[in-house]
Amino acid sequence: MSQVSAYGAVRPDAPLQAVTIERRDLGADDVAIDITHCGVCHSDLHYVRGEWGETASPAVPGHEIVGIVRAVGAGVTKYKAGDRVGVGCLVDSCRACDTCAEGEEQFCSGHTQTYNGVEKQTGLPTYGGYSKAIVVTQDFVLRIPDGLKSEHAAPLLCAGITTYSPLRHWNVGPGQKVGVVGLGGLGHMAVKLAKAMGAHVVVFTTSPVKVADAKALGADEVVLSKDAAQMAAHTNSFHLIINAVSAAHDLEAYTVLLRRNGTLCLLGAPPITESHAWPQVFTMLMGRRSVAGSPIGGIRETQEMLDFCAEKNVAPEIEMIAPAEINAAYERLVKGDIRYRFVIDMATL
Ligand code: NAP
Ligand code: ZN
Ligand code: ZN
Repeated sequence: MSQVSAYGAVRPDAPLQAVTIERRDLGADDVAIDITHCGVCHSDLHYVRGEWGETASPAVPGHEIVGIVRAVGAGVTKYKAGDRVGVGCLVDSCRACDTCAEGEEQFCSGHTQTYNGVEKQTGLPTYGGYSKAIVVTQDFVLRIPDGLKSEHAAPLLCAGITTYSPLRHWNVGPGQKVGVVGLGGLGHMAVKLAKAMGAHVVVFTTSPVKVADAKALGADEVVLSKDAAQMAAHTNSFHLIINAVSAAHDLEAYTVLLRRNGTLCLLGAPPITESHAWPQVFTMLMGRRSVAGSPIGGIRETQEMLDFCAEKNVAPEIEMIAPAEINAAYERLVKGDIRYRFVIDMATL
């Protein structure tokens, strides 16, 4: 075991502070990574504040991790010291079930999350990337393409894959009209990725100050979701709406905007004490509309997404912060004041 500096919360109502965690010794299949950058996902905030239930103490979040390989175990073939690598939301899975065989480890009931999980190797809690270093089995480490800066690659490891995966699953491409609800970390990646895939993209935002940004990000149209007339103008028209809002809200308002066979895909995961206002059953019957959800993505698709972003020059809009600025960044996330992903400069920890 080695002691590693980190940032975490000792109680759900406490601010994040400097803490020390333990990382396991390097096993034969393990890669030891010195973390240079970690993106800040709204899931990190839901987790440390106990909005999804129990938290560990300390709760050390962060699943948009980029760093440099420091050392590899004797059996490691995929990476060597000095490689630039990433770690996303998963650090292991059962490797025996159907979904693991298909490379869709996000659906494996035995997967290990990067934080708030239990290490198969040690039985100890997993701690995320708000830390100096991490040890991860080689099959759950991603290769960062040369064309991507580390600070841009980090947010792709959750915000990127979580939006890329449903866009691919629903075969988004030219001729399709795609809506994106909530212009935050996930939402702004959904806009860039859906545009790169050739779709017509419409952003729904509660923030008038983000209208110009949405256009600059590539959106073809922007709707202020509190304006009923602007909403009504899009009735029956979307093939797919990606909903990346972090709080519970009215889903009927978006379901009626779907065309026949259209899908409203929920990505946002509000606090468990909140509940969406679900669509009317007749809204779903008439038009055979679907409301679906999608969780992160598997390792194979995450690597595909990184390579896609490097090839198409897709990168997030980021604001770099120091570790000590994390509590102020969380307050801005709660207010929706985000343009459009905070990335922690871990080298300064
Ligand atoms: P974020 O950067 O904070 O963005 C969320 C956006 O939602 C805000 O910028 C705001 O956009 C909108 N919003 C916030 N509160 C709202 C409210 N009360 N009513 C309407 N709109 C509101 O968050 P994120 O990191 O993108 O994450 C978004 C959600 O996805 C979180 O719940 C997170 O936990 C979840 N998530 C899920 C997965 C998955 O696997 N499915 C993966 C990662 C994250 P506007 O200002 O444009 O309205
Ligand atoms: Zn995330
Ligand atoms: Zn499995």
